[in-house]
Amino acid sequence: MENKPTSNFLKNIITEDLKSGKVNHIITRFPPEPNGYLHIGHAKSIILNFELADEFKGKTHLRFDDTNPTKEDTEYVESIKEDVTWLGYEWDNLFFASDYFAEMYKRAVVLIKKGKAYACDSTAEEIRQMRGSLTEVGQRSPYRDRSVEENLELFERMRKGEFKDGQKVLRAKIDMASPNINMRDPVLYRIAHATHHNTGDEWCIYPMYDFAHPLEDAIEGVTHSICTLEFEDHRPLYDWVIRECEMEKVPHQYEFARLNLTNTVMSKRKLKQLVDDKVVDGWDDPRMPTISGLRRRGYTAEAIRNFAREIGVAKADSIVDTKMLEHFIREDLKLKVPRTMAVLEPLKVVITNYPADQVEMLEAENNPENPEMGTRQIPFSREVYIEQEDFMENPPAKYHRLFPGNEVRLKNAYFIRCNDIVKDETGKVIELHCTYDPETKSGSGFTGRKVKGTIHWVEASRAVPAEFRLYEALILAEDMTDEASFLDHINPNSLEIVPGFVEPNIKDSKPQDKFQFFRHGYFNVDPKNSRQGHLVFNRIVSLKSSFELPKQ
Ligand code: ATP
Ligand code: MG
Repeated sequence: MENKPTSNFLKNIITEDLKSGKVNHIITRFPPEPNGYLHIGHAKSIILNFELADEFKGKTHLRFDDTNPTKEDTEYVESIKEDVTWLGYEWDNLFFASDYFAEMYKRAVVLIKKGKAYACDSTAEEIRQMRGSLTEVGQRSPYRDRSVEENLELFERMRKGEFKDGQKVLRAKIDMASPNINMRDPVLYRIAHATHHNTGDEWCIYPMYDFAHPLEDAIEGVTHSICTLEFEDHRPLYDWVIRECEMEKVPHQYEFARLNLTNTVMSKRKLKQLVDDKVVDGWDDPRMPTISGLRRRGYTAEAIRNFAREIGVAKADSIVDTKMLEHFIREDLKLKVPRTMAVLEPLKVVITNYPADQVEMLEAENNPENPEMGTRQIPFSREVYIEQEDFMENPPAKYHRLFPGNEVRLKNAYFIRCNDIVKDETGKVIELHCTYDPETKSGSGFTGRKVKGTIHWVEASRAVPAEFRLYEALILAEDMTDEASFLDHINPNSLEIVPGFVEPNIKDSKPQDKFQFFRHGYFNVDPKNSRQGHLVFNRIVSLKSSFELPKQ
């Protein structure tokens, strides 16, 4: 797989670690919690982890961090595997954190025996209140000085299901006065009588992230455990768990900035709310920033990979302009997909001087920027559709499309001149009567006179009806990085469904086929709703953009 060489701080660390012999080979991991579908932020993490391992001839594990039974589901497990594979990566090992529950339990017992963990009867609220703040030390739990024997017994009884949810927790015994609040006797285990998607009812106590994650990494021999910046303050606890649990293999945690995009919410929890509240039509709605949504919209894995490489890995949070993602899909499709004509919101044009029974085939290039894509034949006859937008009865100055008396070129065909307008009883223009000039055929070398406008069209009798779905940002506010109530910023016009026609050449289009429709942009055949006889095209991205990559 091609890999744009971007140097990042993680590469420097790994290079050093290999050189100094701290590690002989690297193992990275992508550790999603299966509580939703993956989004483009996860793609950044996937690409980073897999490509680092690739570059340094190491391995990458896909590990489901499934330690929270109430939110997790096998549907999510399957979607995550599909998305990682689609992005173009093959994991060297597939693991479930829940497979380590027995091992984690043993390690917790090690802590208890060393006097480094205790059973605490405080409620979640009491624990929160006693934790202190940045300016105030925490208070010790009244249960902190239980004996090792008592703690061992209580922990075993927690495991056996003798207590109700919330009745007891297991806490690390570290330092209630630590300047790092994460070190103030964090909870390691909680009770949850819930059925787990993998382990069923075998367990009713579940490890907390800060305890489970370092153990998972150590058990698997992960060398470089890469996570997002909000875990920086958890790193001392990560190292404490590895050390005090006496893990043989010692992983290290490194943090990088998470990806934020303009006009986008990026958290499974929020995305799930959009799905549950039916703001969108499922996780793979083409307006969603999920990998499955982007795929259905028509994004390619290559465009997403190139985007991730370009944004690179930073140590400071920022918001990336969504236009940059759009730039990469345009770049990817520009030379790859055929260009054809589609007419949205059609208006019929009758060419009154063209023979009624005649159909001629005109030659058109499939992609003028890529001659290797060849040419196609498109039918032309007395009746064609153009776009309502390409005609004005009373145009403003500098309008170069069709208006009464004006002449334009029909792309790949002839000049036509508008002579008459037919209106319905409401005064709406429903048909135009034009004449064509046979001398002006495209490619004939005609130089007699010039026209200022070229418009696209589809021959009427052979036009294939289609539905076009045009998208705008789902969220109207640019910066969605803080937790503000994102549902107040939903764009009510994020989806517009427009009827129209496409050329007969593409009537057999298959799901995920992609096209550039003249002037409208890049489109993808919708994999869910499109079928023969009812084609549905999702607009991936329009043609124009003012976006330019920053100069290197
Ligand atoms: P979410 O809040 O969306 O659920 P998460 O971090 O809780 O995100 P996980 O399933 O725990 O989701 O994440 C798996 C991996 O993906 C983690 O290593 C996490 O750091 C990374 N990740 C999640 N969101 C982003 C993002 N926006 N940018 C980069 N990496 C991300
Ligand atoms: Mg999460």
